[in-house]
Amino acid sequence: MGAPARHSEADFEVAIVGAGFSGLCMAIKLKQAGIDSFVVLEKAEEVGGTWRVNTYPGCACDVQSHLYSYSFDGNPNWSRKFAPWKEIYDYILRCTDEHELRRHIRFGHEVDQAVFDAGPGLWRIRAKNGSTVTAHAFVLGTGPLHVPLSPNVPGLETFQGKVFHSSQWDHDFEFEGKTVASIGTGGSAIQYVPEIAPRVKHLHVFQRTAPWILPKPDREYTKVEKLLFRLSPKLRKLHRGWLYVRNELRVLPIMNPRLARPLEKLAALYIKHCVDDPAIVERLTPDYTIGCKRVLLSNNYYQTFNRPNVELVTDALTEIKENSVVTSDGVERPVDAIILGTGFEADPRNYLDKLTIKGLGGRDLLTRWEHGAEAYLGITVAGFPNMFELVGPNTGLGHNSLLFMIESQVHYIVQCLKLLREKKAKYMNVRTPALRRYNEELEQRLENTVWTSGCKSWYTQEDGKNIAIWPGFSFRYRARTRRVEADHYVWTPHLERTTVQSHGRDAHPHRDQHRRPAFGGVGGAD
Ligand code: NAP
Repeated sequence: MGAPARHSEADFEVAIVGAGFSGLCMAIKLKQAGIDSFVVLEKAEEVGGTWRVNTYPGCACDVQSHLYSYSFDGNPNWSRKFAPWKEIYDYILRCTDEHELRRHIRFGHEVDQAVFDAGPGLWRIRAKNGSTVTAHAFVLGTGPLHVPLSPNVPGLETFQGKVFHSSQWDHDFEFEGKTVASIGTGGSAIQYVPEIAPRVKHLHVFQRTAPWILPKPDREYTKVEKLLFRLSPKLRKLHRGWLYVRNELRVLPIMNPRLARPLEKLAALYIKHCVDDPAIVERLTPDYTIGCKRVLLSNNYYQTFNRPNVELVTDALTEIKENSVVTSDGVERPVDAIILGTGFEADPRNYLDKLTIKGLGGRDLLTRWEHGAEAYLGITVAGFPNMFELVGPNTGLGHNSLLFMIESQVHYIVQCLKLLREKKAKYMNVRTPALRRYNEELEQRLENTVWTSGCKSWYTQEDGKNIAIWPGFSFRYRARTRRVEADHYVWTPHLERTTVQSHGRDAHPHRDQHRRPAFGGVGGAD
C-alpha cells in the first residue's frame, strides 16, 4: 500500500465497531494490507458476535461450515457439514489469536456516538464508558441481527415463571418436569424445540406463520476426509467451491417464483413424511411461496410433533398471565416457562438506534434513513464520508454464505482506503446519483422475485420495501465490489487553507464550512 494517509490528528487510520465475523475479517484484511493503525471497539468482553451470544441447545449454522468460514483461513477439521455453534465460535477465537488481533481490540467499549469532523476529516467516536477515539475511517461491523425482539403480547411482564430469549439462553434452567411455552417458529426455534422436547413435561409451540423447512443434508466428515483436507488444501478448496456452486443455484427459484413450485411440492411431501397426524400436517404447511421467508433446514423439527408431550398451537397469543398463556380461542395454558424464539430487530434504523451517527453538516444517519435504510453496494452512505458498513442494507443472503458477502465488502473497503491514500484525499463521499441509480437497480431486480409474492417477513419494512436481501447471485455482488468506481465518489483533498469552489452537491448537503475543491477530475457537480 502507498504512503500512510494524512490524518495526523486521528488516533487511528481505521476504527471498527464490533468483533464478530465481519469486524474481525476487516481487521485481518487491514493487517494483510499493511494497515496496522486500527482499533476494534467491542461492547462485550470477548470476540464472536452472534456465535458468542447464541448458545441455545441445537444451535448450528444452516450454511455448510467449509463455506461458512473465511476463504483465506480454511479449517480442514470441521467435524460435520453443518458445524454446531461451539465449533464455529472456537474457529473465530482461533482466527483472532492466529492473526494477533487482540492487541487491537478494546473490549467493554459499546460505541454510542460517532461524529464526522469535516475539518481534519476524521470520525470522533465515543463509547458508553466515556472513552473516545478518532479515526480517519469508520467501519460498522455491528451485524444486523443482535437486538432481541419480544412478542407484543399484553401481560408478558407480569409472568411469574422463567422467561428468556433464544439468544439469552438460561443454561441453568432445569427443563425436566416443566411445562414450557415456546413462541416463534423461525431458524432458532426449529433448532432448540427438538432438543428440549424430550426433556420437558409439556411443550406448547406457538406458531404464527409456518416456515418452509427442507431436510438438512448434514453428516459427519470421516477421518479420511479430514485427513485429505489437511493434506491437500486444494481438495478442501475444491469442496468449498462445490458447496458454493450448489448453494448458488438456490437463487434461481428465489428470483423466479414459478421455479419454486416443484420445490414447494417436495417440501410439502416432506412434512407429510415426517408427521403422523394429517391435521397437524395441514397446520404445519405454509400458505405462501417457498423462499419468501428464509427456507430453514432440519432433520428433526417436524418429527417433534409426533411426541405426545408436544402441542402445536396456531391460535394467536392474546394474553400472558402470572402463570399461564391465553390464546384467541380463550384457552388458557398453565406454563412454568416461556422461551422467546421471536427473532431480532432487522431494520437498521431500529438496531442502530442506540448509536448516534452524524455525518457532514451534523446530519443524523437515522434521519437520512427516514424512509428506509439504503447504502451504495450496502457499504457507503451519501453524506457520511469515510464510513463503511459491513452487512449493510440489501447485502444479506437467503441462499448462500454471508461470509462471501462480508469478504467482498472488506475487499472493497480496503480498495477505498488505498484510493484515499493514492489520491491523498481527506475523505470520500458517495455521490447521491450513484446511490440513487444503485437503488433503482435494486428495486427493479427485486420486482417479481419470491420476496414480493405476498408474505410478511423481516426482510421487508412496513411499506414492503426489501431492505435486507441482495437480489441475485452472490458472485454478481463480488464482481460489483471487486474494484471501486472512483467517479461514483467525491474525493476531498487535504488542503492547508479553505478554498470555496464548486463541489459535488451531495458531498456537502448542508454546506458545511469546510468546503474543499474536489480533485482528480472526480469531484465536480453530479
Ligand atoms: P426469526 O427467523 O425472525 O423468527 C422469529 C419467529 O418468531 C417467527 O416465527 C415469528 O413469526 C415469531 N414471532 C415473532 N413475534 C411473534 C408473536 N408476537 N407471536 C407469535 N410469534 C411471533 O428469528 P430467529 O429464529 O431467531 O432467527 C433469526 C435469523 O437468524 C433468521 O434469519 C434465521 O434464519 C437466522 N438463523 C440462522 C441460523 C443459521 O444456522 N445460520 C440459525 C438460527 C437462526 P412470523 O413468521 O409470523 O413473524
